[in-house]
Amino acid sequence: MTDTPAEHRLAPWQRTAEGAGLLGPDGRIAATVFAEMSALAQRTGAINLGQGFPDEDGPAAVLDAAVDAIRSGTNQYPPGTGMPVLREAIARHQQHWYGIGLDPDREVLVTAGATEALAATVLAFVEPGDEVVTFEPYYDAYAALIARAGGVHRTVPLRFPDWRPNHDELRAAVTDRTRLILVNDPHNPTGAVLDEATAELLVELAERHDALLVTDEVYEHLRFEGPHRPIAARPGARSRTISISSGGKTFSTTGWKIGWLTARPELVTAVLAVKQYLTYVNGAPFQPAIATGLDLPDAAFTAAAASLARRAELLSAGLEAAGFTVARPRAGYFVVADAGPLGFDDAEELCRRLPELAGVVGIPVSAFVRREHRHEVARLVRFAFCKREDVLREASARLAALGAA
Ligand SMILES: *Cc1c(COP(=O)(O)O)cnc(C)c1O
Repeated sequence: MTDTPAEHRLAPWQRTAEGAGLLGPDGRIAATVFAEMSALAQRTGAINLGQGFPDEDGPAAVLDAAVDAIRSGTNQYPPGTGMPVLREAIARHQQHWYGIGLDPDREVLVTAGATEALAATVLAFVEPGDEVVTFEPYYDAYAALIARAGGVHRTVPLRFPDWRPNHDELRAAVTDRTRLILVNDPHNPTGAVLDEATAELLVELAERHDALLVTDEVYEHLRFEGPHRPIAARPGARSRTISISSGGKTFSTTGWKIGWLTARPELVTAVLAVKQYLTYVNGAPFQPAIATGLDLPDAAFTAAAASLARRAELLSAGLEAAGFTVARPRAGYFVVADAGPLGFDDAEELCRRLPELAGVVGIPVSAFVRREHRHEVARLVRFAFCKREDVLREASARLAALGAA
């Protein structure tokens, strides 16, 4: 009995999850490097530039609207597709920023964060054996969701430091077996934004192979130069695109989990059929508050992006001064740095030692790639800059010790 390999002691349902990489061979939930690094930060008092959440509150008008909603009795189940006030604000937002006209009753669905929108979309459209194409590195939830749906995950590499995909590799990855092309733009963890030629090719390939385009645009308002241009706004893309976003990153309310997707009515209905038995609904008082946020004047959005751009520059400069090579981010919460010039070839090991070496926590980029591709990103570390400037200055000062050591 004691000789039985651990995997043979797993129940069938556990084996399914283990195969999907969601459970370790011992049947316990596979600890993510995010949890490990956050625990390390807590234990050592290091500055946590690991997980991406802001350390300051977002717009007061948004926070006040949530408090008002609770006080005025918006505390019961909202409608299954989301409160009309929010669906209408989402439709207005898409028209105002991107020129996309939407019917708020049939083409907008409110979800429990972008995460539920992604989960319900993958579960709605991916049958066992269907292929899903993403860039790699990718947001970690993608691989887990695709695996749980029984899908086959095909990836196209984005390479440090310019992160541009090779178009031949992209053409080779998309075939008639491709059900979804899942595109995160702006991109986590690289901070890259999609270039025009790649965006056009994605639309062309989706059309040629009759695949759906699913976009994860949670950083849409956190671009440092130039406006975001959604795939759905491109010629020919609209009818086969499911656009996903959320209020968490835009309004510094990551704990509220108010997300949404927009698409033509048939696609929304297919996702709703799954979503209504996942959470059914969530966050009643936060829905009108995010609606308030979406209606804020343009200056509120551009000021937030400008503030983040300054902080991106501050941390990037600090990392360079410490001896890292940095890929300058163009959007989002994160910067990726190469530790090779400092003499570190193993970012996983460096991240475990970084609290002791420099009192800072980062995440190895290997957490965002498949096991067999880890060596390609072995020296890369992701740092979050969605923190106060004094915190980033202190982190930079501490990191300077690395080069000096
Ligand atoms: C944070 C993040 C999400 C999750 O968004 P929620 O609205 O919190 O569910 C999804 N995709 C990417 C790329 C993210 O960085």
